[in-house]
Amino acid sequence: MEGHIKLPKLKWVKIKHHREISETHRLKSVTISMTGSGKVYVSILTEYEIETNRVEPKNVVGLDFFISDLYVTSDGEKANYPRFYRQSLEKLAKEQRVLSRRKKGSNRWYKQKRKVAKLLEKTANQRRDFLHKKSYTLAVNYDYDAIAIEDLEMKGMSRALNFVKSVSDNGWGMFKTFLKYKFEDQGKFFVKIDKWFPSSKKCSNCGEVKEKLSLSERTYSCTCGHISDRDDNAAKNIKKEGIRLLSQTKVA
Ligand SMILES: [Zn+2]
Repeated sequence: MEGHIKLPKLKWVKIKHHREISETHRLKSVTISMTGSGKVYVSILTEYEIETNRVEPKNVVGLDFFISDLYVTSDGEKANYPRFYRQSLEKLAKEQRVLSRRKKGSNRWYKQKRKVAKLLEKTANQRRDFLHKKSYTLAVNYDYDAIAIEDLEMKGMSRALNFVKSVSDNGWGMFKTFLKYKFEDQGKFFVKIDKWFPSSKKCSNCGEVKEKLSLSERTYSCTCGHISDRDDNAAKNIKKEGIRLLSQTKVA
């Protein structure tokens, strides 16, 4: 949406408006920043009060973090990053390799650096849009009234050290923030599961916890006869733990 914003010292500046701000919001702060490709971003922080009727958490969904697809739900649904986003990532990696071969400080290096900065912005925007869509779908389009997810940081590290970079690039932290407000705005529940909860090692059928489960084991098989995909098993455990935690908290 086209519009203008009045900035101190600069007076009225033309802006591209991403989201409408409701009249009921109070302005808290405005932050101005510039990206590597020279675009100026103005982020406006507002606060608002809404009245929500808390629902009984009957239908709970668990989410297990997934490196390549973001998550799998306890209903077996994967997020699946769109093809165009994967293509942008590949292109970005390619252009970054080109940049590393350029002589630092040369004209060609500067030119390539701007190209990389533009691509970085594009992929970040694509990812943010995708995370908004997915979190909205989970909070609104399904019949879930509570969501349980892992408080991941440590788990990401222990799962595979080589994946640290892709974990931080994966947007899980941003996704958690989106989910939290989208669920809570509707009086629904957002439950964080302790990072030490053995979601992968536990059998979602009988509750037995394995002592060891290596990263290469993609299938979970238990002495009780339960066999399932590793991440599906974890998502179901997260859902169960979410239900247990919710049952301990009184619904106001
Ligand atoms: Zn079992």
